[in-house]
Amino acid sequence: MIRVENLHKHFGGFHAVDGASLTIAEGSITGLIGPNGAGKTTLFNVIAGVLKPTSGHVFMAGEDITGLEPHELFHKGLLRTFQIAHEFHSMTVRENLMMVPARQAGERLMSAWFQRAKVRLEDEEIRRRADEVLEFLTIDHIADQKAGQISGGQKKLLELGRTMMTDARIVFLDEVGAGVNRTLLNTIADAIVRLNKERGYTFVVIEHDMDFIGRICDPVICMAEGKVLAEGTLDEIKANEHVIEAYLGT
Ligand code: ADP
Repeated sequence: MIRVENLHKHFGGFHAVDGASLTIAEGSITGLIGPNGAGKTTLFNVIAGVLKPTSGHVFMAGEDITGLEPHELFHKGLLRTFQIAHEFHSMTVRENLMMVPARQAGERLMSAWFQRAKVRLEDEEIRRRADEVLEFLTIDHIADQKAGQISGGQKKLLELGRTMMTDARIVFLDEVGAGVNRTLLNTIADAIVRLNKERGYTFVVIEHDMDFIGRICDPVICMAEGKVLAEGTLDEIKANEHVIEAYLGT
């Protein structure tokens, strides 16, 4: 579904992504691991259009999508989740979901969210859909709480919920587990697996928690120093001498 070919992203003389090549299979939940500074987030940002690559290419279903803007990729169903922006903290969890535009929405992503807010908040159909999403993610009990007041794990579920409002096809999740307690992490893992199995979403997940990665991701891709070191099941990756070296070197 995604093919990355010899991708480079340089910041001045520093090569954060340094000739990375990889493929993401449609229907997979692919894990992206690697020591801090390996270039994982930079790679995500280049694929998702947040950063322009220095060189190299990204293809989606055979189409060259290199350098497209996030809102253009959003129309194609490629989405990178972001933390709930500060402006959205004073709105309820349900309202946060209702403000996500359908993929058909024009304009740039964020301005579309703002412009559509008023209309959408009155839309029964969208409200019903938001309630379905809340139920699916088992966070319907916090529907009327302000987004700024929910826990870190619940915010992650809300981020996931926003992708569900958009008919996403491939979702990039960055550090889903950071600061999230074990119970909620399990809920997040279940939600990802169900979205994958029941709705056909493809996921690419950056996460440091190896239990989480081992439980839901296959394959796992390991990066170090801007390059892809190895790909395989988590057990294969853990036994790979280049991977062991890269982790020991940090
Ligand atoms: P990871 O997600 O694997 O921890 P990152 O992609 O965040 O790695 O970072 C890779 C390297 O690129 C790091 O050394 C980081 O300091 C550097 N880097 C990331 N973004 C920038 C930037 N905007 N300007 C300069 N250096 C950056």
